[in-house]
Amino acid sequence: MSLFENTISQMRQAASIMKLDPNVETILSTPHRILEVSVPVTMDNGSIRIFTGFRVQHNNARGPYKGGIRFHPEVDMEEVKALAIWMTMKCSVVGIPLGGGKGGVIVDSHTLSALELERLTRSYIRAIAPAIGPTKDVPAPDMYTTPQIMAWAADEFSKIHGENVLGVVTGKPLEVGGSAGRGDSTSQGGIYVLEEVCKTYNLPHEGTKVVVQGFGNAGANVAKMLHDNGFKVVGVSDSRGGIYCENGINPDATHSCKLDKGSVVECSGIGGENCKVITNEELLELECDILFLSAMENQVTAANADRIKARFIVELANGPVTPEADVVLEKKGVLVVPDILANAGGVTVSYFELVQNEANFYWTDEEVQERLKKIMVDSWNNVADLAKKYNCTLRQAAFIAALKRLEAAIKLRGYN
Ligand code: NAD
Repeated sequence: MSLFENTISQMRQAASIMKLDPNVETILSTPHRILEVSVPVTMDNGSIRIFTGFRVQHNNARGPYKGGIRFHPEVDMEEVKALAIWMTMKCSVVGIPLGGGKGGVIVDSHTLSALELERLTRSYIRAIAPAIGPTKDVPAPDMYTTPQIMAWAADEFSKIHGENVLGVVTGKPLEVGGSAGRGDSTSQGGIYVLEEVCKTYNLPHEGTKVVVQGFGNAGANVAKMLHDNGFKVVGVSDSRGGIYCENGINPDATHSCKLDKGSVVECSGIGGENCKVITNEELLELECDILFLSAMENQVTAANADRIKARFIVELANGPVTPEADVVLEKKGVLVVPDILANAGGVTVSYFELVQNEANFYWTDEEVQERLKKIMVDSWNNVADLAKKYNCTLRQAAFIAALKRLEAAIKLRGYN
């Protein structure tokens, strides 16, 4: 199954449990608009290279399309379509008035100079400019896109329109219309949900062993927050492999080391003899209580699900557990906190950023955290209640929560 087919299959399971209007299911099974654009870039040596970019606008019944931009060599249309539908569901689960979209450029950004990356970003924004804007479609960062890239994107769009339109993208630096708390909001939202999981399942912080796959924006921040909250982070990984430290890892020191040496696999030394380098496959199968998946899609599959030892999985990445793996994990009694709930903190603070840009009035970090926490806790309670009501998994319940709101909006606005 393609990633898009996976998301459709997740939606259909929930639709059948809650008896969703079949017309609404039909509408949500196809994106509204798919753009494929050519992105010409003048390279530093004077030659022109053409990159391929995408923007998928899945559904805007509840508000403007919203979703990140991924710069990655393996980006493809099926992936972007899947990520766009998850965004529609995610915004709806947490009840923010936005729809779903996603974008991407096929590029290994590590091979570009800073100037080439800036030209690529500006060229991509020019290519999709007619389709985006604060009331139309609002991109944001995703894998290998950063606040700096969002600053270039907002600047390019503003130049095209001859006025400041900072709300065209979110995830910007604070100095140019960013929101307090946006940088680590995905991880913080996941932590607020985890706190509720801990209360519900009597899971203490002290002594609870956690493994974090992916040590980028979402993963490195969550590892630090877990450590600061008393959890014992025993394993972390990035695209080159992982490290396991029996006595626990210091995420701050590991992060500094990764910045310096390029990968966490070069950082086992900072934990002394208790640390060893492991493969990504081994990391997923480590003995632990909670596994945070913060890298990419399709990481826990039918091939390795029965070897997962964690009792809880929190999906900070989008789509890291396949539908086939979900079935195996459910049988094993592993509780999966689904992506469309667990990682919704990022888009929630993106929504706050949009609101602040519109008002040109900025909130304190305390105000952001208070609002974010309320939304994440309320959303967890709603999803947990629906899981009980329908006797279904948390993923199915999260989709049900999303589909109920989407069904109401689509019916009120009309089908045609
Ligand atoms: P990022 O580019 O900052 O980090 C990705 C990390 O994953 C890097 O450390 C990379 O080395 C690592 N990685 C890649 N392939 C891996 C593999 N096979 N095994 C282990 N590690 C691997 O990206 P990010 O923003 O942290 O996003 C990570 C995931 O979280 C993505 O699925 C993204 O869609 C999702 N997400 C991010 C946000 C956000 O606000 N950043 C919001 C919602 C969801």
